[in-house]
Amino acid sequence: MVIRYFDNAATTKVKKEVLEEMLPYFNEKYGNPSSLYSIGRASKKAIEEARKKVASLINANPNEIYFTGCGSESDNMIIKGIAHKERKKGKHIITSQIEHPAVLHTCQALEKEGFEVTYLKVSKEGFINLEELRNSIRNDTILISIMFANNEIGTIQPIEMISKIARMHNIVFHTDAVQACGNIPIDVKRMGIDCLSLSGHKLYAPKGIGALYVRNGIEFEKFMDGGHQEKNKRAGTENVASIVGLGKACELAQMNLKNHQMHLEELRDYFIKEVEEKIDGAILNGSIKNRLPGNSNFSFPMVDGEALLLNLDAKGICASAGSACTSGSSKPSHVLTSIGLPDDLAHSSLRVSFGEDNTKEDVDYLIENLCEIVQRLRKQY
Ligand SMILES: *Cc1c(COP(=O)(O)O)cnc(C)c1O
Repeated sequence: MVIRYFDNAATTKVKKEVLEEMLPYFNEKYGNPSSLYSIGRASKKAIEEARKKVASLINANPNEIYFTGCGSESDNMIIKGIAHKERKKGKHIITSQIEHPAVLHTCQALEKEGFEVTYLKVSKEGFINLEELRNSIRNDTILISIMFANNEIGTIQPIEMISKIARMHNIVFHTDAVQACGNIPIDVKRMGIDCLSLSGHKLYAPKGIGALYVRNGIEFEKFMDGGHQEKNKRAGTENVASIVGLGKACELAQMNLKNHQMHLEELRDYFIKEVEEKIDGAILNGSIKNRLPGNSNFSFPMVDGEALLLNLDAKGICASAGSACTSGSSKPSHVLTSIGLPDDLAHSSLRVSFGEDNTKEDVDYLIENLCEIVQRLRKQY
């Protein structure tokens, strides 16, 4: 059966050009980047070229980019790194209720160490309230961490306003931009972002590689003890092939950003329009205007989300009932409950996230099957 993949917020396929660029680093150019002979130096050079490409995508300086093991590690590294560095200065952190578990659980872990965390509420569309942010700031606030765009409902936060507030109070601002990078333009200098997390497998590079941007001048404690890799912040021999892949993916993302964004928006808007026309009572979760180009998220009253996914799967359609991390557990998604959905609507939600390979024909196939399945499941509800 042909697989139609609509779960690009969970992970993406590695691009052909990315894979090709990576392959020599497994068995031809396999030198340790810390070694001084030629194939070692070649690995080192490849890493530094990749660092430039990652930096360029977000308009950072190359020496502000640290390679990590994944997006989750980037989040852990900077949130814990700043907390531990600044613990004498303060113990208060501000984040939001709808963060990815990589941020949420990191903050909860810090609470056990004695840090205090404010989890900002969000509106029905998933936006934090800037007034509430201002009012939450204390003398001992050391970090504000607010995601760029949400992985379930696609809501894009007013990042520049948040960074202005953080700057005004001299507080470091971190953003988890794993969903945004490669899909919408990001300029850390213009947007005033101090620290940013990104992940390879959400932008057509492999799983198990991430990057962290930290503006020069911001201090944080090292994440991993050992060798002196990554400016002595993240020990361990570098994952050269994946770093090269991430660099290539960022280069391609930067080159194609406009077209890529437009392609996803076209599919998304078409899908949303068709669903609203054809499925009674469908509720779009998230914001209409400030939304990731490839994200759609619907609740279908009187439909069991899990049954919906299984029936779609039987037709070769991959989608998600929320974030990949929460499917498999029966607790409703914390994002959907935070935007005020009652449990039953949260359990009847479907996330469809588009990627570069999707075509309008794919979407037509999806819509046709979705309508049929929703109707059928409603009869059994
Ligand atoms: C996927 C994701 C992460 C985690 O990235 P990994 O590389 O899978 O660890 C973090 N934050 C957001 C918003 C994500 O979508």
